[in-house]
Amino acid sequence: MNLTRRSMFKLSGAAALATPMLMTRAAQAEVPMAATMPAAFKRFTLGDFEITALSDGHRAVPDPQSIFGTNTTKEDVEALLTENYLPVGQMQFTFAPTLINTGSELILFDTGNGEGGREGGVGQTLANLQASGYAPDEVTHVVLTHMHPDHIGGMTEGGAPAFPNAAYVAGQAEYDFWTSADRAGTPAEGVAKLVASKVQPFAEKTTFIGDGDDVTSGITAMAAFGHTPGHLAFTVSSGGKSMVITADTANHFVLSLQRPDWEVRFDADKAAAAATRKKVFDMIATDRMPFIGYHMPFPSVGYVEKIGEGYRFIPETYQLDL
Ligand SMILES: [Zn+2]
Repeated sequence: MNLTRRSMFKLSGAAALATPMLMTRAAQAEVPMAATMPAAFKRFTLGDFEITALSDGHRAVPDPQSIFGTNTTKEDVEALLTENYLPVGQMQFTFAPTLINTGSELILFDTGNGEGGREGGVGQTLANLQASGYAPDEVTHVVLTHMHPDHIGGMTEGGAPAFPNAAYVAGQAEYDFWTSADRAGTPAEGVAKLVASKVQPFAEKTTFIGDGDDVTSGITAMAAFGHTPGHLAFTVSSGGKSMVITADTANHFVLSLQRPDWEVRFDADKAAAAATRKKVFDMIATDRMPFIGYHMPFPSVGYVEKIGEGYRFIPETYQLDL
């Protein structure tokens, strides 16, 4: 048999030609989109530590120019986005808590948006912690880099502690700022109220730390003030290898890294935040260290190269798997 495409069509008859195969099948049954979120975590080892970046999910946010580069023109921001193949009308926010198993402790850095964000597509930290092979009650320590809602929202679940066996670690300056009576009646009042419900109830189980203090052997806090008054980054070192958890030192992989001096609406002290960005990412670039940035594109692990006035984000691919 030597059936050409043309003769196949002839064999299938005129009726079949009038109703293409795919349309016939579509009319017979609908196939609903699964629309489920993938389990999302990235795991690697650093010396004796196992590091896991957990996705808390993502959501679209309109009008990047209203958040990043508020001290430059809309045209400048649009041009940089376009140059980097990114849309100008909206952006995607991602959120990535970090889980570190030191062999004797299971330490979670930040807790995601929590149940309040779940309908909006975020609040996935607990689900991805479990997908990555751990149960919430195995977490021994929860460390807060700072106390914005997308970092503390997952502290409780259904009114109960989300990590029932954990002790807590948080910045003293950060805690003092948000729990001060001076926040009442200011724009910070809303977040202060969230801190009162999500963080303050755990105060007796919390160790308050500052610049240079260890969370445990090999994990050290670094003052990275500016985004918030007590914002902390963390250096993580094991077996001669090091990385940094930069938290919200930079909040967009292009707009904040390539233009560290561009002001960001979410930064409390804009000049201090810019100085901190340059200090922390100069160090990361110079030492060629990997880092996990809470709002870098998931899986949020990468490197930076110093270029021009800022830094180029280089997403981690397989460097840490080998
Ligand atoms: Zn954040």
